[in-house]
Parts: sequence; structure tokens; C-alpha cells
Amino acid sequence: MIIGVDIDNTITHTTEMIMHYAEIYGRERGLNTVPDLRYYYLEDALGWSTAEADAFFDKYLARIYYEMKPKDQAAEVLAELNKQHEIILITSRNLKFPQVKEATISWLKRNNISYDRLILNATSNMHFFSKLSICQEYQVDVMIEDHYELVSELCPLLPVIMFEYPYNRHLQADNIIPVKHWSEVKHWIDFLHSRKISSVG
Ligand SMILES: [Mg+2]
Repeated sequence: MIIGVDIDNTITHTTEMIMHYAEIYGRERGLNTVPDLRYYYLEDALGWSTAEADAFFDKYLARIYYEMKPKDQAAEVLAELNKQHEIILITSRNLKFPQVKEATISWLKRNNISYDRLILNATSNMHFFSKLSICQEYQVDVMIEDHYELVSELCPLLPVIMFEYPYNRHLQADNIIPVKHWSEVKHWIDFLHSRKISSVG
């Protein structure tokens, strides 16, 4: 199978690392540092202005991308899956910033993440792009994702294994498989693979 895999909050603990530095940045400036985690975007979760959030990311994004931690067993499960399946990492991290691409490739290497192809966001939106056309172009069989808008756009076309967060827990559909841990991902990929083989005959 061809497996599409998001990076932030799917392979990595991105929100935790962002909030760690947002607390330092916010405290220095007298901004709110207690997040409402039902919201995905920093400015919504903390009630900061877009200008404050942009200034924060300008200062800390490279460090956040460098230091963030992989989720438990993400590397092990992806290595195992990659023996049998093609892994395409599809991320909203933006290609327009060469340091973002470099930081991402370096992080994947340092953390032993197995993959065949890395596709970054080539749109003008810094933090988000539609993954639908990429999934169609590369004939992705299943996507592993956490972003609620992406899960919603993809699930009518392909199964989506969704890492659960307060901001996506409201989503329910036959094609959405909610998971909390990478050990569950292996189980579901095996299931989807056997289903695909039997449907092909
Ligand atoms: Mg994500």
C-alpha cells in the first residue's frame, strides 16, 4: 500500500513543544499562556493576535522544529511498515522557507524516521494546505493525520487513521479510524492491507 503520513502532531509532539516556548514568550510579554486545547491554531488556543503569533513563530519555529520529540514508537512502527509499504510524508510545513525544509529533513534523519518521499506545502499559506490532490496524484491508500479539516476532506475518498486530539474528537465517519498510539496504527494498516488484498482478489 501507499501510506500518506502527516508529521506535526502525528509523528511528533508538536503542540507540546510550541506551548513550552509560547509560555516563555508569553510570560515575558504579559500574554495569556494557558491554552484552550480545543483550538488547533496558536492564536485561537491562547487568544493572541495574529501579529503576536507570527512574531512568536519567527523567533521560535526553527528551534521548535529542531527540538521536538517523536511520539512513542512512531519510528519503530514506520520502520516496520516501510519494509512492506511505501511511506509518503505529506506536511503543511512550508517549502518557501528553506530552513524549514532543512530542519525537517535533519529531524527525520536524527530521529530515524523511515520514509520514501517527503512532500512539503508549496502554497502561500504558511501552516496549511489541502492534501487531497497530493493523495490522488500519488494514489495514497490510507492517510495518517490529525488536522480536522484535512481528515474531513480526505475521509470521503480514503481511510484516515486519525490521532485523537481535543480539536478533532468531534469528527466521526466510517472512514475515520481514531487512534491514540502508534501501536494501534500498525494493527489498522495490517487490517486495511488485508482488506485491500481480498477486494482485489
Ligand atoms: Mg498534523
